Amino acid sequence: MIAVPYHNAYHAADTTNAIWVLMSSVNDLKLTGIELFAGFISAMFHDVGHEGVNNNYLIHTRDKLALTYNDSHVLENMHLATAFEVARSPECDFFETMGDGEYKAVRKLCIGIVLATDLAVHFDTLSALKSDVKNSSLSNQTVLKTCMKMADLSHGSKGFSAHEDWSLRICKEFYNQGDAEKEAGMKVIALFDRALEKDLPKNQVGFLKYLVEPLFNTVKTVFMEELMGEILGNIESNSAEWSRQAEKKEEGEDK
Ligand SMILES: [Zn+2]
Repeated sequence: MIAVPYHNAYHAADTTNAIWVLMSSVNDLKLTGIELFAGFISAMFHDVGHEGVNNNYLIHTRDKLALTYNDSHVLENMHLATAFEVARSPECDFFETMGDGEYKAVRKLCIGIVLATDLAVHFDTLSALKSDVKNSSLSNQTVLKTCMKMADLSHGSKGFSAHEDWSLRICKEFYNQGDAEKEAGMKVIALFDRALEKDLPKNQVGFLKYLVEPLFNTVKTVFMEELMGEILGNIESNSAEWSRQAEKKEEGEDK
């Protein structure tokens, strides 16, 4: 079995915990029981079966998964299909007590929520979110997708020690993919290149600045002020710590 440093059961548990905290802290919109259930199990499902390589790698290596899902949200489609398949077995059947209508509603929500975790659509989702927040037209489905995306990226909002641990795990996974790409004669992006590990702190500043902070900041008024105050404060101090580390590395190189 391949040891996956980041996209493993710990990430699933961590994301499930985070989405529950977020869904419980939504201000005005009342999420229904079905919606809360869909959000909760989506977090459990959302990376199941991950083997530590991204969609780009699967598509470029013409992996069976990319062929199965026609290069479209390859992993996210696989996670959903795998999870719903597992849930068919009697010992894992979350839906056992649900009628057909409820099952269909939960399944539809889960599909939308998990597909939204594809980072390839992150900036489109963020633009749509900004306009919904501005026009006060946020739907419950959009709030659920947003909670999922925030939960998925939530290690950036934890205290530095936990955030650093998750960051090193994801980088380990990136470098493993980079090694495989080099071996396959593929072009390796800087973020995945083990030889450029010294840039890790600088890359983390970029991750927090361009992916995490704008998402949390856009929807800060949708969630309880106290929670968002703590989250945004942690993101800011994590960013400052990575900046300090990046500067230290640069100073070291200058000597
Ligand atoms: Zn994830």
